[in-house]
Parts: sequence; structure tokens; C-alpha cells
Amino acid sequence: MLKSLWIKFLILLLGVSIIALSSALVLRELMIKDFREYLEGELEDRVYWVMADIERIYEKHSKWEKDTVAEDAVWALMLGLEIKIKDAEGNIVMDTEKAVSALSPLIKRRVMSVSNFTQSENQNAFHPYPLFLKGKEIGTLEVRFLRTGKEGIFIKRSNRFLLFSLFALGGLAIVLSIIFSRKLTNPIKRLVSAAKAVSEGNLKSRVKISDKDEIGKLSETFNLMAKNLEVQESLRKKLISNIAHELRTPISAMRGELEGMVDGLITTDKGQLQSLYEETGRLKNLLDGIDELSQAQASALSLRKQHIELKQFLKNIIERFSKLFLDKGIALEFQCGDVMINADPDKLSQIVINLLSNALKATDKNGSVQVAAGKKDNEISMEVSDTGRGIKKEDIPFVFERFFRALPGGLGLGLAIVKELVDAHDGRIEVRSEYGKGTVFTVYIPID
Ligand code: ADP
Repeated sequence: MLKSLWIKFLILLLGVSIIALSSALVLRELMIKDFREYLEGELEDRVYWVMADIERIYEKHSKWEKDTVAEDAVWALMLGLEIKIKDAEGNIVMDTEKAVSALSPLIKRRVMSVSNFTQSENQNAFHPYPLFLKGKEIGTLEVRFLRTGKEGIFIKRSNRFLLFSLFALGGLAIVLSIIFSRKLTNPIKRLVSAAKAVSEGNLKSRVKISDKDEIGKLSETFNLMAKNLEVQESLRKKLISNIAHELRTPISAMRGELEGMVDGLITTDKGQLQSLYEETGRLKNLLDGIDELSQAQASALSLRKQHIELKQFLKNIIERFSKLFLDKGIALEFQCGDVMINADPDKLSQIVINLLSNALKATDKNGSVQVAAGKKDNEISMEVSDTGRGIKKEDIPFVFERFFRALPGGLGLGLAIVKELVDAHDGRIEVRSEYGKGTVFTVYIPID
């Protein structure tokens, strides 16, 4: 159970809530302690006021004057003190009860209501405070602190507030913790089940992305990875079925011919053997093409990039081709600025050679092929254009597909290889063509 992430989150959040509520408890204790100390200090002050006045009265009359000290007893009561004034011999001179009973009923009622004093009240003991005049003890003031009720109200309120915090806020914290931990862990659970589905072969499995947080980004990356896997898987299946299809036709033809020879239906002459030999040559070419394509696919990982002076580089390739173009009666034009390109020379020359071979194949006598290269923004562009037969509009989207051939002949792998090599250089390739008029292939390689 504890292995579950959401339980861990829940425990964490509940722990934080408990700490927060405990700190409220501690805070309450500290506040009440402070409040009590403040009240005690305040009462002590009141005792000293009363003592000072009693001593003043004694000094004035040089003896205990009962009526005058009775006024002090009433005043003390209104300050929240029940008192007893004793002379040096310990006889009670005046106490609160006596002073209050001597008052008129109206004043008595008022004083009682202000002081909260009841005769029966007996919760505290009296504290003695000696009374002095000029260094001589003249008696004792005994004081009992009356609870005014304010302290009780404060404590009751803070208890109520604390109970509210514990139940309402604590409850809210628990509910929020559950919701929040579920909200946090639900997308992870979805990711786990999607990853499990992918591992079981369901490459169509995707995760719903609801947030843009780190888990959202992880889900997005997972979806991208699953999509890539799906594309790769479908390409792999397509490639295998394409290869099987491409191999089946020549092998069937050869088998048929060989069968005929074995059965004696076809004479085994040199011409027949020559045709069979040529057929194996075509098969070898096909396998070489497939090998070249798989190498091109892997080339992103093994690029040996160099800074190449593009003009001289292209010139060398064109010179190698010029005889073929001349023989076919096609003009070959070349135009290039002084630019440097960072590329793998072998791969780059394969790109140019494949495009030039296609242009040569597609262009008839008296046509022309142009190679133009230069710098454009942050890219190097290389364009191979011809005035050849062009590509039908409906065929254009498929020209980079493996084994696609607009016309019979060829392997249909040249442009697929070019595309892989351009991709390996983080570049792109574009094609424009008008059927019957000509074609332009443009390769863009970023400058880095
Ligand atoms: P291949 O290796 O057989 O030449 P590619 O992949 O290079 O095949 O080309 C795919 C198809 O695209 C070819 O069958 C061809 O019909 C068409 N194609 C390629 N380049 C040109 C071009 N410059 N002009 C017209 N058609 C072209």
C-alpha cells in the first residue's frame, strides 16, 4: 500500500497539515501564557495603588480611620481586588464585605455589577502585603484577586477558535490533501498504463495531456515517443514488404526460366544464360541499393562533417558528369557563389550525384540541366533543375518514398537515400515540377 505514490503524497500533505495545526496549538499556549502574565502584572500594579493610598490615609490620620479606608476597599473592589486591612496586631480594620454592606443599596448594586464580586466566592487564597510608614510596619493588606471573567472569555474564545481550526481547517486539509494527491498521481497512473500498453505492442496508446507542468511535458514526450515508434514500426513493415515485393518478381522470372530449362522446354543456350546472369546483376543492384539506403538511414549517427569550399566541390562532381551529359546532347550549366558548407563530403557528393543522375535520366537531347548553389539566410541552398519530362502532380508527394518509380526502370531508392542524407544533416529537400516541362530539386543545409 505504501508503495503507492498517492498514499505517499497523502501522508506528506497530512503531515504538513498536522504540523500547521500543532503550531496553532503552540501559538495559543504561548498567547494565553503571555496574556496571564500581563493580567497578573496589571493586578500587582493595582495592589500597589491601593497600598499607597491606604498608607497615605494612615499617615494623614496617624491611626486607622475605618470610614476612609472603607472607601479604599470599595475602590479596590472595583479594580477587581477583595481586600482585608489588618492593623499591626492582626485585627481586621476593614474588609471588602464590611465596606460593601455599609453602602446604600443602589451604590451597592452598581459596585457589585462592575466588580463581579459575590460574597460566596472563595476560589483564591488571600495574599498578604505588609503596610509600612517611615520604615515601621503599620499593618497588613490581604488581597484576593477576583476573576473579572475577561480572561475566561479570552481563553474560551481561543479554545473555540482552535476547535474550529482543528475540525474545519483540519477537515479541509484532509479533503484537499486527498484531492491534490489524486490530481498529482492520476496523470502518472495514466502514463504507467500507456507505457505498459506500448510495451505490450499497442503503439497507438497515448496519454491525455491536461496540464502544462512537468508531468504534462513528460506525457507530451511520451506521446511523441509512441508516435515515433508507431511511424518507425509502420516504415519497417512497409520496407520489408517492399523488399519482398521487389525481390519476388525477378526471382519468380528466373525460377520460371530455370524450370523451363530443367524440363527441357527452354533450350539452354548462351543467350538464355546471359539473360539469367543479367537478372542476377539486377538483383545485386537491388540489394546494393537497399544496403545503401540502410547506411543512409544510419548516417545521422556517423556523419564526418567538414568545412568544404562548395564551389570547387561541386565543380569536381560536375566535371565527372560532363561527358555523360555531352554524349546525350544535354547542356550542363553551373553557378555557385564562394560559400563554405559544413557537411560530410561523401554524403554530400552522394546527394548531388543522385540528383544529377535523375536529371540526366529525365532529360532528353537538347535539354538542359542547371546546378546552382549559394547562401540564403542561414542556409546553403543547392538546386538541380532540368528541362526534362517532369513529374505528374499526383506523383510528387511520393517521390521520396522507398521503391517509388514514376516510370518503369530504376530501383526507386535514389531520392529516398537523398532524403535520408539531407535529414542526417538537419536539412530539408523540396521539389517543384511541371509535367512535361521540367523539375527542380532544392536541398537546404543549415549553416552552423
Ligand atoms: P531511382 O533510384 O529509380 O532513380 P528515385 O528515387 O531517384 O528512383 O526517383 C523516384 C522516381 O522519381 C523516379 O522513378 C522518377 O520517375 C522520378 N524522378 C526523380 N527525379 C526526377 C526528375 N529530375 N525528373 C523527372 N522525374 C524524376
